[in-house]
Formats: sequence, structure tokens, C-alpha cells
Amino acid sequence: MELPFAENYRIKMVEPIYRSTREERENWIRKADYNLFNLRSEQVYIDLLTDSGTGAMSDRQWAAVMTGDESYAGSSSFFNLKDRVEQLFGFEYMLPVHQGRAAENVLFSVLVKEGNIVPGNSHFDTTKGHIEFRKAKAVDCTIDEAFDTTIDHPFKGNIDLEKLQLVLETYPKDQIPMIIVTVTCNTSGGQPVSMQNMRDVKQLADAYGIPVIFDSARFAENAWFIKQREEGYADKTIKEIVREMYSYADGMTMSSKKDGIVNIGGLLAMHRKDWFDQATVYNIMYEGFLTYGGMAGRDMNALAVGLDEATEAEYLEARISQVHYLGNKLIEAGVPVQRPLGGHAVFVDARRFLPAVPQEEYIAQTLAVELYLEAGVRGVEVGTLLADRDPETHENRYPGNEFLRLAIPRRTYTNNHMDVVAAGLINLFERRDTIRRGFKIEHEAPIMRHFTVGLKKVD
Ligand SMILES: *Cc1c(COP(=O)(O)O)cnc(C)c1O
Repeated sequence: MELPFAENYRIKMVEPIYRSTREERENWIRKADYNLFNLRSEQVYIDLLTDSGTGAMSDRQWAAVMTGDESYAGSSSFFNLKDRVEQLFGFEYMLPVHQGRAAENVLFSVLVKEGNIVPGNSHFDTTKGHIEFRKAKAVDCTIDEAFDTTIDHPFKGNIDLEKLQLVLETYPKDQIPMIIVTVTCNTSGGQPVSMQNMRDVKQLADAYGIPVIFDSARFAENAWFIKQREEGYADKTIKEIVREMYSYADGMTMSSKKDGIVNIGGLLAMHRKDWFDQATVYNIMYEGFLTYGGMAGRDMNALAVGLDEATEAEYLEARISQVHYLGNKLIEAGVPVQRPLGGHAVFVDARRFLPAVPQEEYIAQTLAVELYLEAGVRGVEVGTLLADRDPETHENRYPGNEFLRLAIPRRTYTNNHMDVVAAGLINLFERRDTIRRGFKIEHEAPIMRHFTVGLKKVD
């Protein structure tokens, strides 16, 4: 018998979690205004809200924590991180920041002006927030296949080159500060971008003189998909693939809470000294001095190790095979999910799951609350609540997809936990006809409302 695949690590520290009753959960979610962000973590049994900052660090990372250098200026931890970034991505200029959105804030303070147009592949919500906050516009150029969950396409994160070219032709060069390529593309379902697409985008961008920035939270998972799915990459190492990917970028922002496998932190990196010089001013103002920028020395040390571990094929195989273990269980039971399965999460197609719930009643949020009640599992809505209102008309924006995202923290849960998640969803799927009404909004913030929105049941 061929020996099956298993994780390339074992566990040496555990954290207890509490399995609540349905009655307790009904009480808690009502008090939380049916917003899963308002729950206390003890009220959640299996937490798939996000894979951001929720992973488990390795013994090597914890060892690096102990040797962190907390000097204000010039700490060795900064240089450990800077060297790792240069070695992996090839960028000679790097600024640490407290997390990914801070990298966006610093870089966009340099590059984005009022009235600008920023094309990309389904910009992440904080990215879009930082663009719109500056009264600029994010234009989604993702391929159409990304919005049909029934189509199997190996690289649903790809940018549609015709859509991109149309934007580049329509607006003058000085109005387009950059193109943002998000690897993997979170908003379209953790879907990868192919190497060919990165190469083509860079070529097109060069022809129009526009810089390309990679939003890099899940760069290693993207590289793994290239290795699996793209011709000519099967025998390359993940580190070789990453190096080629970033040869097609002029700079990057990164939340290190994902593929950095640390609990907090981020960075921006680039080739251009003129950007770096301007960015340092904002970094000092918003984040901290150049050699720590919002991170402790121990965190920079752990990140330097995390980036190394995340770019090993064995780690990525363990990581992504767990995501696919859950996804395949759901597929076998007929639950509609985004195909093919992505890297960090399973995206359940809530519109096909709950066809009776009206779009104005927040379909994916309805499914997220039902799953919490059923199994104590916390997922997150990636649908109309997240898409927010149009900044001009203030009407709800209805996105291409209504997803319930089940994001899996790195090295944190076992496949037994995944079995519980699958069983909870399958139970709901079997009685989906009984779920017919959703929610209405009681109160909401003017921007990024999904974090704090309060909801009321429609009856
Ligand atoms: C998480 C994330 C961000 C923002 O990073 P934070 O660390 O949460 O501030 C930006 N872009 C992408 C693609 C992300 O996944």
C-alpha cells in the first residue's frame, strides 16, 4: 500500500477550545447583533473567520522570537528581515509596517492622488478602502470566469488583459499610478494568478509606462498553484517560482499575517529609490522608524523565519491539502463551492445554497449565522455586506458572488475539526428549503461597514 501524505510537523503545544450548545449560541449571536465579528472568541468552537494572524508558529520561529533585537535603530532583526525579503523577492528597499493595510497606507500616500484610477484583480477590501478614501477609483479587471463558481479554470485570479488595456487606453498615464495584482486573489475565492498572466500584465504595463505592484499576502500559496498547474514549473522549487513572479513587479505590499505565518506585521518593498525616499517620511509619521515600522524586533525575526518556512513545498502541500480536504467533502455532498478550490479557504456559494433568501437580505451572512448556530463554526460573509455601498449613489453594491468564506488558519486545526465543519454545513444543506429569510441593517459605518454592522432578523 502506498503510504498516505501527512503533515511535515507534529504538535508540541495545545490550546483548549470550548464546544458550546445551540442554546448558548442563539443567545450570544443575538447579543452580537448577528454580526460574527462581535462574538468573543470563547463563544466560537472552530474559528474560520480568517486565516490572518491566526496561524501557529514553529519552534524555529519561537526560537527567533527569543533572539529578537529591540534596538530602536539598526536592529539585527530588521536586517534579518530585509535580507530575507531581498533574497526571496529581489527588492533592495524594504520598510516594515504593523500590518498589510499600513503598507497600503504608506505606499498609496506616495502614489495615489484624488481622481486616480487603479486597475487590478478584485482589490482586497482594505486596498479598495485606501484607494477610495483618497477619492480615487479601483477598477476590477479580473477575468469573467472568476465570477461563475461552476466554471473550472486553473487561474481564476488572472487579470483580463483586454479589460486592463481598455483602462490603460481610456485614461492618461498620469492618472493611473499603478496596477495592483493580488496574489492569490482573496476576493475571487483565494484563486491564483498564473505566471503567464503576471508576465503579460507586466509587458502591457511597461508599454504604457505604468508600475505594477503585487499585493502579496498569499504569495507562497500562489507559487504552489503555479507549480501544480502551470506547464514548465513542476520541477522548480517554490523559492525559484517566487523569484520569477516578483521579477514582474515594481514593488509589493504584504500582510505578513498570512503566508508570513506570524500573528501581526507587514511590509512594503520596491526597487525604486525615489518611492522609498518618499515612503520613509510616511512610514516614520504613521508607523515608526525605518528599521522597525510598527513591529517589535522579535516579530521581525519570526517573520524572517516564517517567510522561509512558507516557501517550502512540503509545508504548502500540508497547508493546501487541508483546505482541499474540507472542500472535497463538501463537493461530495453536493454543497455548491467555488471551483476549483483555492489556497486558504473554501468559498461556499451562498446564492446557490440558499436560493430562497432575497439578495437584499444578505444571503451569505444568513448562511454564516446559520452555520454558527448549527456547529459553533465561525466563517465570514464575502458578499453584499463586504461590497459596501457605492460611494456616489449610496446604494448597496451587489457583487458577482455571495460567498460564505471558511478560511483555515495555518497549522492550527486537524482534519477532525474539518469533519465537524463539513457535517455542520451538510446538515444545513439538507434542510436548506426551511431557510427563507435573512437580515436587515440596523446600523452601519460609512466605510468598511461589515466589521461593525448591526443586523436584525427579517420575519
Ligand atoms: C489581509 C490582506 C490585506 C490587508 O492586510 P492586514 O494585515 O489585514 O492589514 C491586504 N491584501 C490582501 C490580499 C489581504 O489578504
